[in-house]
Amino acid sequence: MKPAPFDWLQARTVDEAVGALVAAEGDALVVAGSQSLGPMLNLRLVQPSLLVDIRGIEGLLAVDEADDGAAGPAITYGSLVTHAAIEDGRVADGTNGLMPQVARGIAYRAIRTCGTIGGSVCHADPAGDWGTALTLLSATALIEGPAGRRAVPIEGFFLGPFGTVLAPGDLLVGLRVPRLPPGTRWAYEKCCRKPGEFAESIVGMLRNEAQGTCRIVVGANGGAPVVIDDRGILRDGFDPVRARAALASAGLDGDPYLLKLHLAMMQRAALEVSTQVPGGRR
Ligand SMILES: Cc1cc2nc3c(=O)[nH]c(=O)nc-3n(C[C@H](O)[C@H](O)[C@H](O)COP(=O)(O)OP(=O)(O)OC[C@H]3O[C@@H](n4cnc5c(N)ncnc54)[C@H](O)[C@@H]3O)c2cc1C
Repeated sequence: MKPAPFDWLQARTVDEAVGALVAAEGDALVVAGSQSLGPMLNLRLVQPSLLVDIRGIEGLLAVDEADDGAAGPAITYGSLVTHAAIEDGRVADGTNGLMPQVARGIAYRAIRTCGTIGGSVCHADPAGDWGTALTLLSATALIEGPAGRRAVPIEGFFLGPFGTVLAPGDLLVGLRVPRLPPGTRWAYEKCCRKPGEFAESIVGMLRNEAQGTCRIVVGANGGAPVVIDDRGILRDGFDPVRARAALASAGLDGDPYLLKLHLAMMQRAALEVSTQVPGGRR
């Protein structure tokens, strides 16, 4: 099948892109890497009158390492930074290898070469990797819209499967990712039937013993990533009863098969953060 007819705008600036989106009154879509949008257009799942191509906006490729005084040390990634640029280490990483590992596990190289971190977040596929990883990292989405710029914590960005707070006229311009505090151990475990496929379960974990913190995020659960703040799950390495109870209270125990997968990924993550050299992978 071929896409329904549409007009095409090659935007050169953020203002031009936002202006075009606003003028289209909800009948336009942004084109980033086109890895998800292309198939949706071909299947006519979306039929916008206008496509606003943002790939010519150089500022959206920028990576800013300047610390934000208020929010602490962080790196801001332009929304057009590709999975491959992160995988290859062509852009700065403040996560001791977590972000490159996440990027490396997305689909296959051709998709990673074109697909962007911003497009992935805006698409909000429940099985998408950046949604889970950036929730684990407590990132902030930077959005430019008709009323100017606003910053939205990523935990409030996802409304559910394929749903975000983006309104017609909004453009995601960047993602601010806090640097991991020294001594943080991390794990990112996912279960896919075949390499390169979307995951059936993802569990990300951050553990910092000096700070006494443990943050767990369960993704690929059919909705928005779920945050579990319960250090007790790591008691004696891994407490499966407590983990199961946490998943149940998050409403993730409806399907026995998926519950087992989430528990298995959580157990693997717990093992990883208890044996990893603090600060990064072995
Ligand atoms: C076969 C296959 C396997 C895949 N496997 C995985 C996987 O394992 N894990 C994973 O995470 N992903 C996977 N993906 C998805 C891939 O990561 C895409 O790159 C990503 O979902 C979309 O990024 P994109 O840059 O191509 O965005 P596009 O396809 O260009 O856009 C996606 C959506 O977001 C909107 N959008 C894009 N950028 C912006 C912006 N800056 N502001 C506002 N709206 C915007 C578009 O209008 C569109 O609705 C897979 C894709 C394919 C085709």
